[in-house]
Amino acid sequence: MIKFHPAPEQLLQFAQGALTSVESIMVSAHCDMCARCQQVVAQQTVLQAEHALVDTSTEASDSGSFELDAMLDAITRLPRAAPSKSVRSTARKIIELDGRVFTIPRTLRKYVPYMGNWSSLVGKLWQAPVDIGSSGVANFIYMGHGGSVPEHTHRGTEFTLVINGEFHDGIDHYRTGDFIQMNESNVHAPKSDDVNGCLVFSVLDQPLHFTAGIARLLNPFSHVFFR
Ligand SMILES: [Zn+2]
Repeated sequence: MIKFHPAPEQLLQFAQGALTSVESIMVSAHCDMCARCQQVVAQQTVLQAEHALVDTSTEASDSGSFELDAMLDAITRLPRAAPSKSVRSTARKIIELDGRVFTIPRTLRKYVPYMGNWSSLVGKLWQAPVDIGSSGVANFIYMGHGGSVPEHTHRGTEFTLVINGEFHDGIDHYRTGDFIQMNESNVHAPKSDDVNGCLVFSVLDQPLHFTAGIARLLNPFSHVFFR
């Protein structure tokens, strides 16, 4: 049962195509896993479409339908369509780590061709970077059973979507499908007691904060979403 969802205004802005690309990716991926939010977005999209039609009702019908098409296109458009034809579409639905296979949300499949190799970090953590373009820094993060990260805070906004498994952080307990948004006011210490570990997808919306400063390069967690 999904407990953490995007805020109602985030879903509304997503339907309006008004979110940043980073936020849009995360909300969209959550909706892939959450029937409730999917329904909210669908309803909002219809309302937006009706609103657009009212706005253009005094114009020629051709113009109105064109604007509606453009708006729907804007709503569904996400940055960087995968150009690679060599990767089979079925291969994009899953990612593998240590013999385990994970099915990933539809929204994230287009980024699989831009996924780097897994690297092992301390504390039973694994990380694979994903190039989602210049608008954000993204990683798949896997916490093995008992894997943990020291208590820390954040810079900028970090969005985390639980792809598979459970973890807790001293603030709450998160399960598959949960959408988590953290900023500089949040301090937490993530740990997974899930016997099967926990896979999450995480995006930082401010890559300048992420890459700036020599201390970050020295910090073993500098490339981890928990930072
Ligand atoms: Zn939801």
